[in-house]
Amino acid sequence: MSRIAYVNGRYLPLASASINIEDRGFQFSDGVYEVCEVRAGQLIDERRHMARLEYSLSELRIAMPMAPASLSIVLHEVARRNRVRWGIVYLQITRGVSHRDHAFPPAGTAPTVVVTARNLDAAAADRMATEGVAVISVPENRWERVDIKSVSLLPNVLAKQAAREQGAREAWFIDKQGYVTEGSSSNAWIVTRNGTVVTRQFDHGILRGITRTVVLDIIAAEGLKVDVRAFTLEEAHAAREAFITSASQIVLPVVKINGRAVGDGTPGPVAMALRRDFHNHAETS
Ligand code: PMP
Repeated sequence: MSRIAYVNGRYLPLASASINIEDRGFQFSDGVYEVCEVRAGQLIDERRHMARLEYSLSELRIAMPMAPASLSIVLHEVARRNRVRWGIVYLQITRGVSHRDHAFPPAGTAPTVVVTARNLDAAAADRMATEGVAVISVPENRWERVDIKSVSLLPNVLAKQAAREQGAREAWFIDKQGYVTEGSSSNAWIVTRNGTVVTRQFDHGILRGITRTVVLDIIAAEGLKVDVRAFTLEEAHAAREAFITSASQIVLPVVKINGRAVGDGTPGPVAMALRRDFHNHAETS
């Protein structure tokens, strides 16, 4: 089946879908994105993803290109046309097409809107969760506004590649004080020896993951001990459990950090329970 992309008002075969080479996304990474999980054909936590999208756009002073209700129809339509049952919808909005100049283009330049969707292998993801994944650490080298979900992801790309080359699934950024900020495409968590779940507080230094928000809701609902604060790499090494969260991976147990086993080296019960319970707390639409 050929895949379909939405580009600026049209649904096109992916192979012939294109944008102008003077698009500011291409020229300057001047744009934002969202990734929403699709499960049994429905979007997961669309409302929260759309709220974060509007936040990213407004922080960068890019206009919301269409009414939220229309955008919602497009997201569902792209998922439907690609027959996505278990997978993701990807949305990218850039500051539009204009002659190359670093400063903003003329007022009224239309933002570019691209939406794609694809199936993921749900069984393979579950297998990965059952086995757990390895992470490495890399120095934090991103700008100070990673709370904005910008497509400017070069440090994240290099970090993820470093992880791959070392046989790991994810790379955790470590700031100058030795604290873990987040993964290259996920939020980072540990469970301490006394059973407290720890994840970094939201500020400009991490992306406010939608999965992170829902997991914090589950933790509150289930009465688990939680501490929303930064943790160091040393604390992570000494932790009973570690895990990562993102819309495309939900909760994924971490069993190795920089080659050293976390806890007993197998996925922890807290991470697995959070993964199991996630969709009872997430919203579907
Ligand atoms: N941090 C970064 C840097 C990410 O790219 C992602 C995934 N988009 C996350 C955290 C997790 O966010 P979410 O749970 O909304 O997917």
